[in-house]
Amino acid sequence: PFEVLVVGGGPAGSTAAIYTARKGIRTGLLAERFGGQLLDTMAIENYPSVEHTEGPRMAADLERQVRGLGVEVMTGQVAVRLVPASREPQGSGLHEVHLASGAVLRARAVVAASGARWRTLDIPGEDEYRNRGVTFCPHCDGPLFAGKRVAVIGGGNSGVEAAIDLAGVVAHVTLVEFADELKADDVLQRKVHSLGNVDVLVGTATTEVVGDGSKVVGLRHAPRAGGASSVLDVDGVFVQIGLLPTTEWLDGVVDLTPHGEVVVDARGATGIPGVFAAGDCTTAPWKQIVAAAGSGAGAALSAFDHLIRTTSP
Ligand code: FAD
Repeated sequence: PFEVLVVGGGPAGSTAAIYTARKGIRTGLLAERFGGQLLDTMAIENYPSVEHTEGPRMAADLERQVRGLGVEVMTGQVAVRLVPASREPQGSGLHEVHLASGAVLRARAVVAASGARWRTLDIPGEDEYRNRGVTFCPHCDGPLFAGKRVAVIGGGNSGVEAAIDLAGVVAHVTLVEFADELKADDVLQRKVHSLGNVDVLVGTATTEVVGDGSKVVGLRHAPRAGGASSVLDVDGVFVQIGLLPTTEWLDGVVDLTPHGEVVVDARGATGIPGVFAAGDCTTAPWKQIVAAAGSGAGAALSAFDHLIRTTSP
């Protein structure tokens, strides 16, 4: 068995493994895809001390560092269920992670870092122009659209926050919501309506991301109630219709919010002794690489604390 088993090979899981391995703890890291969301990311320009890198390159750098520290890395494997250690005195004291392959991994402590994925619109052009104008992260990509016109899709808190944020960076923002009213908090709605360079369209269906073959040039939309569609001239489309945590394997085992995020405390602890969580799969509010890495470090140190306070089975 492992002393610590990390599930997830994104920034949170990699950092957790780096921290436990450097304490001499026998660490395993299980990841369907090493790198996680980094593999889908082009430019990264907000990680401190790294002015510019590309996601796949950061993923490769992390993997080299993790393997170099002796972590047993298992990629291409999917965790389907966590079975926590029995609290009975005769229990093994080991948590079990069951894999889709049927294999079972055992560990004294588990760090869940299985990340998240952005909800997509599933309309023509969205996938084709991903990273060529279609983006999901205003903090990451807002500055790339300085002086340009963009659309934000989604009138919940994240969409309205994105519109307010982008209004300070880009020339003009059109916020598009499918329902007949915005769903964001009132204070955010008042703020967005007060901005001179933001238009708000409600009751509007987004039907196509229009491109010129190399980048986004527009967004086709139509009144939800019916009627002709038209194309908004924009260089960027920010899709803000939700983030889906990858926590199916923890469902019914650890506390999840109604959105599926693992509930953790400030130390990354779940309600189950020896089970910690970090990164985008948790209730941590800021879904960013540096934040995921930071919470991975914290969860690893909490796992270490747990191990030195419990005896080896
Ligand atoms: P993830 O990166 O999602 O990694 C999850 C890991 O868990 C993966 O290895 C996955 O394969 C694995 N996994 C999931 N489920 C299972 C399972 N059941 N069994 C086994 N393994 C599993 N942030 C920034 O700070 N700057 C940026 O410029 C930036 N740009 C972005 C661009 C795009 C297109 C996207 C999608 C995100 C961007 N982000 C950016 C956000 C950032 O990538 C995430 O916040 C960060 O990757 C979260 O790290 P994580 O380790 O929590 O999860």
